[in-house]
Amino acid sequence: MNKVRYCKNCFMPNTKPGLILDEEGICQACRHAEEKKSIDYNKRFEELKKLCNKYRSNNGSYDCIIAVSGGKDSHYQTYVMKELMGMNPLLVSVSDPFTHTKTGRHNFQNIADAFSCDIITLNQNPDLVRRMMKIAFEEFGSPTWAIDRAIYVFPIKMAIKLGIKLVVYGENVSYEYGGVLENKETYSAKDQINNDVAKKIDFDFWLNKGIRQEEINMLVYPTDKEIEKAELEPIYLGYFVKWDGYKNYQIAKKYGFRSLGNEWIREGFIEDYDQVDSYAYLVHPWLKYPKFGFGRATDVVGYWIRGGKITRKEGLELLKKHENSLVDTKALEDFLNFTGYTVKEFWNIADKFWNTDIFEKTDGLWYKKINNPWEEDYIINSIEEKAITNL
Ligand SMILES: [Zn+2]
Repeated sequence: MNKVRYCKNCFMPNTKPGLILDEEGICQACRHAEEKKSIDYNKRFEELKKLCNKYRSNNGSYDCIIAVSGGKDSHYQTYVMKELMGMNPLLVSVSDPFTHTKTGRHNFQNIADAFSCDIITLNQNPDLVRRMMKIAFEEFGSPTWAIDRAIYVFPIKMAIKLGIKLVVYGENVSYEYGGVLENKETYSAKDQINNDVAKKIDFDFWLNKGIRQEEINMLVYPTDKEIEKAELEPIYLGYFVKWDGYKNYQIAKKYGFRSLGNEWIREGFIEDYDQVDSYAYLVHPWLKYPKFGFGRATDVVGYWIRGGKITRKEGLELLKKHENSLVDTKALEDFLNFTGYTVKEFWNIADKFWNTDIFEKTDGLWYKKINNPWEEDYIINSIEEKAITNL
């Protein structure tokens, strides 16, 4: 058994792929958050202006593509590029084939309306997504792979087709949250396709599973040569402006973005403004719980601690209250409805992904071996602190 350890600052466990805790027990995301305090973001903002000037259109044509979902971060990206930089962006998005929330539909409409931008959307073929989803769920426990892959690939494909060179993405997830890519911060998003969200699965794998070549062409990332020839410049906006999801949300709200409010109270969530677009998609982030022993609450507590919105102690209270093994009912219902699995089939498949370093099965149910693992760490800290005070 491997000992699971938790970041001493943000509670993220070292079971997260690519996450490394240093000798002081702090994860890369927290180290990077410290580093960011000494970054001169005024200077980087000037760098962004320079870059925009290089690509700015003089004839009214689109001069950049922003990969958007309609979420709070997309609103923020569009705000920076259109309102602050004065660019003429084309928004490019991928719509998943699940049931969309009313809030999500509003936000998607709103982003185009509030910033007066056109959107090109890829409505993915539901039949293909369904088949790939079942395979990816059963084989890797990653049901939304085909959707996540399209989100990275489609904007680049469109940029090449339309001859628009500047492509704007949000944050570098490996740098911001700790992940499998090398952690040196760079503005270029050229390597993004290799991060853990939509990592390359050998296309022969899909062909062997009965997916036809013509069906997955849309998910094949352009070659380095094609990207070079088109002179594409994919960038992370999070390099140029200090990235903080909660602050992005505050700005998005000013431009008409809405949180879920009472439309959907989500199990295991401590906020109502992230990943609010569709129901079934949330089964995918839920699978982190059996696989790695943490859920969405841990992610968000980490964002908030690093962003200075809450203390570590407040974070611990939130985790004790909200972090659990439950999958949101509405999300599961929509997932079953879309895929055609029965409840029993779903749990049988999910069963093989529970991490036995963290969980053990008793009477057919999975339980954490240590009940409040973060608290164990926390108590050790407190005892040490007490011992010091008593000296
Ligand atoms: Zn951390």
